Amino acid sequence: MNNVNKKRTAPKRMRNLPSKSRTFKPISRAAAAAGVLTLSLIFTSCGETEHGTTAGTQGSTGKPAGNTSATTEVTTAAPAEKDGTHETTRFEEIPFETVYIPNPEMYEDEELTQAEGEKGKAEITEYRTYLGGELTAEWEERKTLTEPKNRVIIRGTKPIITVKENTVTETLEKYSTIYEECGTMEVGTTKLKTEGKNSVAVKTYRYTYTKGELTVTELVAEEIQERVDEVILVGTKAQSFGMPFIDAENGGVNYRLTQSYGGSNNHRGLDFAVYYGDPIIAVMDGTVVEAYDAGYFSKNNLLWTYGTYVVIEHEGGFRTCYAHLSSRTVKKGDTVKKGQTIGRSGNTGRLNTTATGPYAGTHLHFEIRKYSSSKKAYVTVDPKLYLPWWK
Ligand SMILES: [Zn+2]
Repeated sequence: MNNVNKKRTAPKRMRNLPSKSRTFKPISRAAAAAGVLTLSLIFTSCGETEHGTTAGTQGSTGKPAGNTSATTEVTTAAPAEKDGTHETTRFEEIPFETVYIPNPEMYEDEELTQAEGEKGKAEITEYRTYLGGELTAEWEERKTLTEPKNRVIIRGTKPIITVKENTVTETLEKYSTIYEECGTMEVGTTKLKTEGKNSVAVKTYRYTYTKGELTVTELVAEEIQERVDEVILVGTKAQSFGMPFIDAENGGVNYRLTQSYGGSNNHRGLDFAVYYGDPIIAVMDGTVVEAYDAGYFSKNNLLWTYGTYVVIEHEGGFRTCYAHLSSRTVKKGDTVKKGQTIGRSGNTGRLNTTATGPYAGTHLHFEIRKYSSSKKAYVTVDPKLYLPWWK
């Protein structure tokens, strides 16, 4: 009868109870009747042996206590306890928790301890009641003496590795210009046929930064764009005559003559109705061979009748004359292009003062002269034979 059964609950199971708690655990009848109890050795988190062993040689019950590895179980014979309630007190540490505070200014691998953790402390009192030398009840009370304090760690969230990409275009070879003759375009005219493109390498670089420092540069993509030569068409077709001014009022579709070539007074050219000050333009590329202002010639020289006038020599043995101008913008020896302004319309020289209408007194006297090898001189021809408006 000296062998008393003793069975303890593992203190570990009590840790999470409220600061003051009480557990009551009645002894099972079967266990009491068997007169055998399993006595466990309990180790607290402090590492102290919780409960002493007692003498005894009774065999193991073979029934596991169900405790965790923190419990070592032995079976001993225990001496009879005195009737009444006995209490034992032990202390336990309460572990602290670690709290992390993210900081985007610090890198991922950086930590800063803001506060050290402190363990708490709990007091556990165990009660056992014996009656007739047998354990009839046991329970324990738990009281938190000191609450644990969290360990606070500031942890960086800024990425250690960052990657950027950049695309650059490098010129490898500049394009050339090729001139191509074009028989349907007039001499002196050009036209862009193919736009030139340099040969280039389009490169994409990847830059890897470690904590803001450039550590790796990689070429991740490269595209070569082939060179395309520029092609310019150059006209080879003989230049044709243009009109000596733009018909401003009608967009060049209603040229109006006030006097034709020839006639009873042997008119040497065409008289065009124009507004005073209209731009007068060269009908073809050429060189200015005569350019005089009104008043330069005396009235006994027939040239005075032209007033301010310009004569241009062209390819193919032609010359053109523009007379009665209010002003001229070229001088003898100048090279002019087809369509280039050579002066402004006006009413200088001898005019038909009987003319009526909006162009009265102001007109362009225009001549085309062709070189005659037999006469070894330039002779006037009817401009209607050459000007596009009549062709
Ligand atoms: Zn005339």
